[in-house]
Amino acid sequence: MLTIDLSAIADNWRAIAALSAPSDCAAVVKANAYGLGMARVAPALWRAGARNFFVAHLSEGLELRALLPEAIIYVLNGLLPEVADVYADADLRPVLGSAPEISDWSDLCRDRNTSLPAAIHVDTGMHRLGLSLEEAVQLSGTFRLLGFTPSLIMSHLACADMPGHVLTARQRMIFADVVRRFPGVPASLANSAGTLLGRDFRFEMVRPGIFLYGGVAIAGVPPLQPVVRLEAKVIQVLSAPAGETVGYGAVQRLKRPSRLATVAIGYADGLFRAGGSSDMVKGAEAILAGRRCHLVGRVSMDLATLDITDLPEQAVERGDTAVFLGDGIGVDDLAARSGTIGYEVLTSLGARYARRYVGG
Ligand SMILES: *Cc1c(COP(=O)(O)O)cnc(C)c1O
Repeated sequence: MLTIDLSAIADNWRAIAALSAPSDCAAVVKANAYGLGMARVAPALWRAGARNFFVAHLSEGLELRALLPEAIIYVLNGLLPEVADVYADADLRPVLGSAPEISDWSDLCRDRNTSLPAAIHVDTGMHRLGLSLEEAVQLSGTFRLLGFTPSLIMSHLACADMPGHVLTARQRMIFADVVRRFPGVPASLANSAGTLLGRDFRFEMVRPGIFLYGGVAIAGVPPLQPVVRLEAKVIQVLSAPAGETVGYGAVQRLKRPSRLATVAIGYADGLFRAGGSSDMVKGAEAILAGRRCHLVGRVSMDLATLDITDLPEQAVERGDTAVFLGDGIGVDDLAARSGTIGYEVLTSLGARYARRYVGG
């Protein structure tokens, strides 16, 4: 059972919006709102006051448009060939990151005899998407002739989660220089981590994602309110003698006579296989009968086993609930035990759970 707290998401958005004012606070809802369900999350953010939204794919933009007829929706991945009309018809704003994308949008605006808003993405050092600096400078001389007025000029930070990284300062300087060349066009640089770096990074709009969903943006900076609770049922309680092994591959040998609880959750549900335990590493934890218990052995597709030897005899029964996220276990705790980041934990939470939305 996955419980998603829409009030917590709304509160988190309001907290970042208050921190960022007078900059606008957008909401990033790509990848199905980081796996939590855009259909419920986006309207909750709208009710909290968010007006600008970012998704990654055109298909996500179309889905969001149906949910929020009045929202401003930017599509980060921009224009593939021959889709400009689809954007325009759904009032979506592409984030244009190359000369061919810009020329497609210009052509469309000329064909329709109207200036339709779009963002321009400038690469300030991440080298993933965006116009090169030379292209941006060149464009700045002629952008009034484009056939449309850019509604936003943006870039993305590669290392905002690593305070003091030299690349972050360099990207900010380069971006500030580019922005000056586009007078009157609002600018946006910061994701969640960038927003926390201070006023200098916020420009006219910030674009938080992970912080809305209760994840850690910068190591050591506490997240906002937790948003997800992940529970699974114990389906069998069993014992095994010392020297035996548990699970696929027999990668963990029991050091003592053990009591075990096998739970109906596995990697198909987003409990990473890398979060399992072995003789070498202690894997992820869950709370059972009020106590933290470690996984024993590998995580299977549909099952995982917890060591309950330290709990009182009879403390755990078939049908009890184990908490994998919640009650003090955050998405980043589970991520750390699984060799990944909170973002991947959230976006991997499988579609198999019963989902329950509370609040909002
Ligand atoms: C995903 C994304 C964000 C949001 O990032 P968080 O780290 O989740 O806040 C912002 N901007 C761009 C371009 C993104 O791709």
